[in-house]
Amino acid sequence: MKTDRSHALFTRASELLPGGVNSPVRAFKSVGGEPFFVQRAGGPYLHDVDGNRYIDYVGSWGPMIAGHAHPKVLAAVERTMRDGLSFGVPNALEVTMAEAITSIVPSCEMVRMVNSGTEATLSAIRVARGATGRNRIVKFEGCYHGHGDSFLVKAGSGALTLGLPNSPGVPSALADLTLTIPYNDFDAATELFEKAGSDIAGLIIEPIVGNANCILPRDGYLQHLRDLCTKHGALLIFDEVMTGFRVALGGAQQRYGITPDLSTFGKIIGGGMPVGAYGGRRDLMSQVAPAGPIYQAGTLSGNPVAMAAGLATLELIREPGFHDALERSTHALCDGLESAARDAGVTFHTVRAPGMFGLYFREGPIETFEDAKGSDSARFNRFFHAMLERGVYLAPSAFEAGFVSSAHGEAEIAATVEAARAAFAEVAT
Ligand code: PLP
Repeated sequence: MKTDRSHALFTRASELLPGGVNSPVRAFKSVGGEPFFVQRAGGPYLHDVDGNRYIDYVGSWGPMIAGHAHPKVLAAVERTMRDGLSFGVPNALEVTMAEAITSIVPSCEMVRMVNSGTEATLSAIRVARGATGRNRIVKFEGCYHGHGDSFLVKAGSGALTLGLPNSPGVPSALADLTLTIPYNDFDAATELFEKAGSDIAGLIIEPIVGNANCILPRDGYLQHLRDLCTKHGALLIFDEVMTGFRVALGGAQQRYGITPDLSTFGKIIGGGMPVGAYGGRRDLMSQVAPAGPIYQAGTLSGNPVAMAAGLATLELIREPGFHDALERSTHALCDGLESAARDAGVTFHTVRAPGMFGLYFREGPIETFEDAKGSDSARFNRFFHAMLERGVYLAPSAFEAGFVSSAHGEAEIAATVEAARAAFAEVAT
């Protein structure tokens, strides 16, 4: 496989960008080696600057649920950009987007657009603190909510991959306000709320964890958290930046039938453009400036081109049967990988939700962060490279979920399983 051009670019990049990248996980630190540089993408494929083609299971970390460069999304962007790139005054697309989100996610009676998932989560906890007059927030070990100070405490994703779940630069006075408990542990949550419930402004959770590999909630766990928050007057915040519009049209809250007080979104609602959003109960969101005193703002928020890309993507995923098909593809992929591993005699387990999956080099079930950490990450790293050499791009870390898009058809899934047969054989010893 030719890598000369990517290597040359990475050498230049490493001089000027910290670690050669603009977001840590892209540097391949966890899996070793060097990243490839993308020239273009289409449907389920990435094409790199050396002419290699990869079946892509990262999908820009979630937004590309309809595949790369979908013609309808590109057409919407092209149409919109001709009228100007940013106005700094209201435009109709922002209203259409707010209508789309609030109609798809009934717990969101009002919504505010921002520019990233990080901004969405930062803003949501500000609302939680402002509305309750309390300071503490609760998060879960291994969950990632962006790089805001309050969240870089026992965080997942790149922070976990680099072994830096607690980042230098986060004042301890602020980190002390973040309480962390293990995901899927009923008693730990009950005990924490019994001890500190009256100080807790909000509990934020990835309802399906996608930043510590992939972990599903135990039966009744999300309802348990809902009940605790209600009892103690804390706000339940679902971080659906990853799961929103993916695991069901209405996200994990629809899939599990839970009504959070606030929700955060990103990724899919931008269709590949930089977008985030937070929303929730009207009485809470109407406390956000200028309707209320809780300040939050953004020069580019509600950007028309980003709204157009997001709306075109939402239109595609609102097609009847979209998520059922996504779920079928995810199962086909995961069943195929498990069977290929079995044939090669490799201990391997998958965790799935529609459009997202986790790969584990250990036996299941996987229900806790400790279970997830027990996967053989050295073997995952070898598998990752064995797949990459065969033209399949998996998330470059044992602690990240993978994503399937509607552009992954039977042919791509069969080719992936075929590649995996050889890759499992390679890592079997
Ligand atoms: N929340 C979750 C669940 C995420 O997965 C991410 C990013 O992967 C974020 C928040 C942060 O979003 P962004 O990277 O757009 O700031």
